[in-house]
Amino acid sequence: MMLKFRTQVRWDDTLPTREEQARSARYHCEGCDGPWDDAARWKAIEQGEWQARGPFNGIAGFWISELYSPWKQLSEIVLDYLAKKDSAEDLKTFVNTTLAENWIEKGEAPEWEALLGRRENSGTGAVPAGGLFLTAGVDVQRDRLEAEVVAWGRGSPARKHLGFPAIPRMRARRARSQDRSSLRCEILNKWPCTRC
Ligand SMILES: [Zn+2]
Repeated sequence: MMLKFRTQVRWDDTLPTREEQARSARYHCEGCDGPWDDAARWKAIEQGEWQARGPFNGIAGFWISELYSPWKQLSEIVLDYLAKKDSAEDLKTFVNTTLAENWIEKGEAPEWEALLGRRENSGTGAVPAGGLFLTAGVDVQRDRLEAEVVAWGRGSPARKHLGFPAIPRMRARRARSQDRSSLRCEILNKWPCTRC
């Protein structure tokens, strides 16, 4: 867990070089907060036990933090972190591969899977009976625009989700007019206006 890396791995960041800082790193025991050197950490790992969670289909897959690796010195992991921490892209690689965790983009809704599960497939251009007008709420993310198109009507249910088109962005960071026109096209192609 990144949490364990963040909370249990500590080093002296006043030392002048990354290498020296990395060499000062210790894993702090979650029970008593005492510092473990590599030997103590490996000894603790040896007392752990691997438990399979998924059904066995002939190939065992492991996705586990390098903090558990008997081949990695803590100083190597920390040196890697210090070299990568200032670049979002490199830090993402570190979190995904070294710590074996899913990287969550800043500002990105973590419950996207729940949203995906809630979408309804009503087919292109279909607006449910009673739908009087459509609105699109747009969430600007690093690499794409996520729109939520809703049909509004009277009575119950007054609102109905029509879909969540995702539009890749021309440029990350700031919404450009190109992004806006792609979004417009995407929505108007899918739900064409009968009046214009
Ligand atoms: Zn302890």
